[in-house]
Amino acid sequence: MIQNTDVAVIGAGPAGANAALAAASHGFSVTLIDEQPAAGGQVWRAKSTAILDAPATLETVAGNRLRKEIDDSLVNHIGAARVWQIERGGEGSTLYVLRQGRSEVLHARALIIATGAREFVQPVPGWTTPGVLGLAGATALFKQEMALPGKRTIVSGTGPLVFFVATEIRRLGGEVAAVITPNSRGDWLRCLPAMLSHADLLLRGGRWIADLILAGIPICWRHAVTRVEGETQVAGVEFRKLTADWSPTGPARRIDGDSLCIGNGLIPATEAAQLAGLGLEYSLGLGGWVPCEAADGGTHLTDVFLCGDGTGIRGAAAAELHGRLAGLSAAQHLGADTSAERDRLRAPFDRAARFGMAMTSLSIPRAGLTRLTTEETIVCRCESLSRTDIAAEITSGARSTNAVKSGLRAGMGPCGGKFCQTTVARMIAEAEGRAEADVPPPTPRPPLRPVPVAALAGDFSYSDLPIPKPAPL
Ligand SMILES: Cc1cc2nc3c(=O)[nH]c(=O)nc-3n(C[C@H](O)[C@H](O)[C@H](O)COP(=O)(O)OP(=O)(O)OC[C@H]3O[C@@H](n4cnc5c(N)ncnc54)[C@H](O)[C@@H]3O)c2cc1C
Repeated sequence: MIQNTDVAVIGAGPAGANAALAAASHGFSVTLIDEQPAAGGQVWRAKSTAILDAPATLETVAGNRLRKEIDDSLVNHIGAARVWQIERGGEGSTLYVLRQGRSEVLHARALIIATGAREFVQPVPGWTTPGVLGLAGATALFKQEMALPGKRTIVSGTGPLVFFVATEIRRLGGEVAAVITPNSRGDWLRCLPAMLSHADLLLRGGRWIADLILAGIPICWRHAVTRVEGETQVAGVEFRKLTADWSPTGPARRIDGDSLCIGNGLIPATEAAQLAGLGLEYSLGLGGWVPCEAADGGTHLTDVFLCGDGTGIRGAAAAELHGRLAGLSAAQHLGADTSAERDRLRAPFDRAARFGMAMTSLSIPRAGLTRLTTEETIVCRCESLSRTDIAAEITSGARSTNAVKSGLRAGMGPCGGKFCQTTVARMIAEAEGRAEADVPPPTPRPPLRPVPVAALAGDFSYSDLPIPKPAPL
C-alpha cells in the first residue's frame, strides 16, 4: 500500500512524539511510526497488557500523558512498524515500512528522524554468557514486563543508569549483590553545577544513591567488571579497581551473582539519518558520531529534520523540547509561521541539554577502558569474532570500519554492527595512533532493521511466474 503524508516522523519517543504533535498542531497531516506497539520510546516504554494493573511509576505517568495527547490529536500513529529503508528524490522522502509482515511505502513532504540511542557495552571476557544484560536494556524489562534479570544481580556501569537499575531491581523484589561503577565520587561532584539546572532530577538521582547506601548495598566507585564467570549461566564476576584513565589495576576481587547488568553509556543511533543523506561529525560530549544538524533540528536538506538522542545524548527532558523544535521547523518548512513558538523553546531546551550532557560526560570513555577487552574476548557477537581476530585483520591492512566489515563480516550479522562497531573503530584508532574522530562508522546500508524476504516479495503464485520456453539447441 502506498500512502502520502505531509510529515513522517520515525520514532515515537519523547522527541519524535512531541515533534509529531507540534507539526500536527499547525494543521499538517502527520504519520508517526515506531517499532514499539505504543508510543513512549525507551524512557517512557508502555507496560505490556500482563502488568497493566501494576503501580504506576514516574515513567508510566509521563508515558500515559504522552500517549493520551497523541490519541487526542490528529497524529496518525502507526505502532509495531519498522522503517527499513529511506529513499530521497522527487519531492521529499520515501519510507519503506515493515508492518504486519508486509512492506508498505510512505511518501512524506517533510521527514523528522527521532530514532534515539542504543547502549554501548565495552566487551569483557564472558560478557556473552546467559544472564548478562545491557544496563539500558534491563530498564525495558522492568518497564514492559516487571521482570527481573535474576535472583541476585550485579549492576555495573557508568552514569546515572547504574543507580536507577539497581534501585528498580530492589523495588521489584530482587537482590542487588553490588553496584560497580567506573565513575568516582569526584566525577559526580564535578557534574553538580550543571545538574543544578534540573534540581528535581538531581534530587531523584541523589535519593537512588542514598537508598542503596542505607540498604547496605556495596557501591564500588572507580571499579569495573573484568570477567564474567559461569559457563551456561552467570555465576559471579571478577572486578578490579581502575586508575584515573580507567585502566584496571590491583588484584581482582570476586562476587557471586546469577545475573549481571552492564553498560558504558549510550550512543546516538545515526543510521536512519545517514540513509537519508546526512553526514556525520564527531562529538565526544554528545556520545560520539552525530548527524550534522543546523538550528532547531534543521539540516542542510531543507525537508529533513532531526531531534532527540539520535542527535546526541542529552536525555529525555531535552528530547521533548528538541522534538517540539524540530516539529515546528518542519511546519515552518511547509508554510506555517512558527518563529515565535520556537523562540520560546530555545532557552528551556538549552537548560535541559546542559543537564543531559553533564550526565553523558560521566560515560565519556577514557583511554584505559579498551584494556578491559582482553585478546580472547568476543567483540562481534553475531559472527563470534574475538579481539585477536579483529586485531589481526587491522594488522593485515584493514584501516577502516568498512574494511574490517568486508574482511571479517564484523557488522554484517543480525545486529548490523550496533554492538561491535564502536569497539572496532576504537581498536583501529588505537592501532593506528589516530583520533577516534578519524575512524567513522561503516557506510550505512538498508535494511535499517531485519526484513523477511517474504515481506519484500509480497503475494504471488508460483503458477503465475512466466517460465521461458527451453532455448532451441
Ligand atoms: C534501551 C534504552 C533504555 C533507556 N532507558 C532509560 C531510562 O530508563 N531512563 C532514562 O532517563 N533514559 C533512558 N534511556 C535514554 C533515553 O532513551 C533517552 O534519553 C530518551 O528516551 C530519548 O528520547 P528519544 O525520543 O530521542 O529516543 P527514544 O526514546 O529512544 O525513542 C526512539 C524511538 O525510535 C524508534 N525507532 C528507532 N529506529 C526505528 C526504525 N527504524 N523504525 C521504527 N522505529 C524506530 C524506537 O523504537 C524508539 O521508540 C534509555 C536508552 C536506551 C537505548
